[in-house]
Amino acid sequence: MGRKYIDCREYPSETNCTLAIAADSESELLDAAVRHGVDIHGHSDSAEFRRQLKGLFREGTPPLERR
Ligand SMILES: [Zn+2]
Repeated sequence: MGRKYIDCREYPSETNCTLAIAADSESELLDAAVRHGVDIHGHSDSAEFRRQLKGLFREGTPPLERR
C-alpha cells in the first residue's frame, strides 16, 4: 500500500490550518486525522466524520505548495 495524506490547506477553515498528515496505512492516517479534527477543528469523533475523512485522503505525499 502506498503512502496517503490529508492536507488541511485544501479545506477552508476558520483557523486557516496548514497542517498536512501523511502515513503508510489508512488506519494510522485516519486516527491522526480524527484526533486533529477533534482537537483543532472542533469536530466530534463519529462514524460519519471518519467516513467523510476517508473520502478526503489522497495518494502520495503532501505537495510543497498549496494547490
Ligand atoms: Zn487542520
